[in-house]
Amino acid sequence: MTRDDIPGATHLHSGKVRDLYTLPGGDLLMVASDRISAFDHVLEPGIPDKGEILTRMSLWWFDQLTDLVPHHVISTDVPGQVVGRAVVCEKLDMFPVECVARGYLTGSGLIDYRATGAVCGVALPDGLTDGSRLPAPIFTPATKAEIGEHDENVDFDHVVATVGPDLAERLRELTLAVYARAEGIARERGIVLADTKFEFGAREDGTIVLADEVLTPDSSRFWPADTVLDSGARPGGPQPSFDKQFVRDWLLSPESGWDKSSDTPPPTLPPEIVEKTRARYIEAYERLTGETF
Ligand code: ATP
Ligand code: MG
Repeated sequence: MTRDDIPGATHLHSGKVRDLYTLPGGDLLMVASDRISAFDHVLEPGIPDKGEILTRMSLWWFDQLTDLVPHHVISTDVPGQVVGRAVVCEKLDMFPVECVARGYLTGSGLIDYRATGAVCGVALPDGLTDGSRLPAPIFTPATKAEIGEHDENVDFDHVVATVGPDLAERLRELTLAVYARAEGIARERGIVLADTKFEFGAREDGTIVLADEVLTPDSSRFWPADTVLDSGARPGGPQPSFDKQFVRDWLLSPESGWDKSSDTPPPTLPPEIVEKTRARYIEAYERLTGETF
């Protein structure tokens, strides 16, 4: 899948999923494509409407958070060919830290916990398992990987060394505050926000601003609340989910025929998996916002 050629905009960066352009005047145009990635591969084909669903979800969340932290979106008045799946945003000086909050244990957090009893240096009680609810949400930062590398979990001291003690503390506070707000909102709507990743940047005057996409199925794990017990998810196994875990599970299943440890790229997604993934994204959007996509 190729990126959009947008007259008047200068291409700046393409990630696995989003394309960034500079607009005349210096603002950024962030375009969400329908591309989907898993295990650091961009899969084929894309998921129809994914870019629009995630853009709308992110905008909805930014609105729920404005009293906690300013966000980077300036407008949704964007060039015709990307209407609905792009935003104009402030160009910030991004902090090179992936600010992750976790309320539940799974994924890379679980791997760290099994190896060390801690996640990113935060010690956790014994006996937790896949899907356990943590005693309290924790800040588990990661470094942003170069293209083709995995993000790497780091401890708080690493963040202090990167941005200084005051900013590190502020990023931790903001991450946990935004997570707490979002977790509460999602829970009221039948969704458990197991974990999520934020990126923050600074304005020239030093103001910290919430950037990137927020609280989408690409940056978060969303579990249906009715399958999750109060004590701690449905501990002991992978959770059914509204995020791209569904696609990951298919890739790892015998049906896909793919060996993750091999060098071969993942197989093309069958139409049924594409359609089911799209349906999950739409259901997450509709449950959260109460709006019909
Ligand atoms: P990956 O595909 O692994 O996510 P990536 O993070 O480089 O790679 P994207 O997430 O698609 O790719 O790209 C968005 C990029 O834009 C990120 O590098 C992010 O840090 C950056 N970004 C987000 N908001 C802003 C902003 N307001 N100002 C400057 N850069 C931003
Ligand atoms: Mg990114």
